[in-house]
Amino acid sequence: METSIGLDLGGTAIKYALVNRQGEVLYQGTRPSSADISAEAVIHQLLECINDVRAYASSVHKVKLKGIGIGTPGIIDETNRIVLGGAENIVGWENIHLAQRIESETKLSTILANDANVMGLGETMFGAGKSYHCIVFVTVGTGIGGAVIIDGKLFNGYANRGTELGHVPFIANGIDCACGSVGCLEAYASTAALIRTFIAEQAAQGVETAEDEVTGRFIVELYKKGDPLAVKCLNQHCDYLGHGIAGFINVFSPQRVVIGGGLPEAGDFYFEKVRKAAFRYAMSDCAVNTEIVPAQLGNMAGTIGAASLIFSL
Ligand SMILES: [Zn+2]
Repeated sequence: METSIGLDLGGTAIKYALVNRQGEVLYQGTRPSSADISAEAVIHQLLECINDVRAYASSVHKVKLKGIGIGTPGIIDETNRIVLGGAENIVGWENIHLAQRIESETKLSTILANDANVMGLGETMFGAGKSYHCIVFVTVGTGIGGAVIIDGKLFNGYANRGTELGHVPFIANGIDCACGSVGCLEAYASTAALIRTFIAEQAAQGVETAEDEVTGRFIVELYKKGDPLAVKCLNQHCDYLGHGIAGFINVFSPQRVVIGGGLPEAGDFYFEKVRKAAFRYAMSDCAVNTEIVPAQLGNMAGTIGAASLIFSL
């Protein structure tokens, strides 16, 4: 059986798995990423994850290891297989010849891609986008990430510098964004933006909740109890997100918009609101073939997607 190792590198943990061609996870684990220490410490942890999977693979009959796929935050030079930078949550994660380094240590061919892109690829090959070939994947979390799949392949713009879906200009002269610009979709429609708005509105009403208590889940729970402020803030969040997605529909006219991340797991009500907004704002001729659906692979999208880089060759 042909398999590959998928590594999903995040700011706190590395999720990893041994995956077969059908996208089935045969073995999996998690390890701290040491992202707050140094790039060298992160590489050490990646190699430990790979060693763990190889130890398992060598104990099982008929497992043929084809290679290693790595999903990492930041901008990737796929031609030279270098992490260029842009991953604020990993110390020193700039100009790292990561593929070459992993290959020389493991003797296994290695492919790198951006983390949101591999999630989108995973959902396309094995999840909510399976059997479709034009897909927009959006992940809603602290930020907004995404991927565009055209004719079954990741579309990243020239030299792999594009598809920053969270940073499409949304409001002219709007609020500051983490990317250095202002008014990006992410600054209005991410989970962090929802939390920030909720806290500000509470403060305006003279209510104070400890900031670390307010999470996306906390707001969703209040929403379900009918709390007027939570209802107002979540309605606004879904309207913003739907408005952004309407833009993606008008540009790509995808068969499916797949939405992942912690907040979209809140339930059907979330998707009903986002769909209503998206189809209200999109041009109907562009949206005629589009469905907006939840991601299916959950927190395994990154590892399965990374592993599938090897199979998508
Ligand atoms: Zn931005």
